[in-house]
Amino acid sequence: MNKIIKTKAVVLKKQNYGDSSLILSLYTEEEGRLSAILKGARKSKTNTGAILDPLNLVEIVIYIKKSREVQLISSADLISNYSLIKDDIYKLKYAYSSIEIIQYLTSEEEKDEKLFKGLVRILDLFNKSEEISSVIFCRFFLFIIKEMGYQFSFKKCAICNSEDIENEELAFNFELGLLCGNCKADHLTVIDISKELFEFFFCLRNNKKIINNAEYLSSKALYFMETYLKYHINSFNGLKSLKLID
Ligand SMILES: [Zn+2]
Repeated sequence: MNKIIKTKAVVLKKQNYGDSSLILSLYTEEEGRLSAILKGARKSKTNTGAILDPLNLVEIVIYIKKSREVQLISSADLISNYSLIKDDIYKLKYAYSSIEIIQYLTSEEEKDEKLFKGLVRILDLFNKSEEISSVIFCRFFLFIIKEMGYQFSFKKCAICNSEDIENEELAFNFELGLLCGNCKADHLTVIDISKELFEFFFCLRNNKKIINNAEYLSSKALYFMETYLKYHINSFNGLKSLKLID
């Protein structure tokens, strides 16, 4: 079915194509992720090309033909270019990591309004929030792991079901899940979960403020989540954008 729609979209990738056109990867509110072309963008006097820089939130009119791999953009208006993100290399690193993970984990043309809202919300937070960017990204990473169906539980020991575990030195086994101090002795574990890291995840899940050691704990949490995803998705090699700067 062919249709013309107007939708909000976040630009994930932008590439020059031919003499004057642009090929974009977009995460749209109405159609999920899709590839689209804007013809003549680099010759236009109105600078539509710059409106479609990666990370930007735009409103586009797009002509969709299901049989085509690349859809046709007829117009694009800027909603936000998140200028505070682009002025700060740390914000940029984590904002790029967010669009990279969307690009990687979503399928084309699968609408997911919750994911779209989550992505826009996280870009707003990177742009305006005082919270450390790495912690904001941890919140998003956890959200997307859950949305994509790879959720893990930190509520109780996966073997003995004990919930009274917050004061123990825990560990994680990618097949079984979280293991308490007693049970971990009998199983192969991959990653130790310190008391502080356990609390950090608790705060992320419950939207609480992270007070101590935020930088250090977010790097531990990111390592955990990346390793966890690599285990579950063979083709996933980690996020390139996270390696931009240390
Ligand atoms: Zn146990």
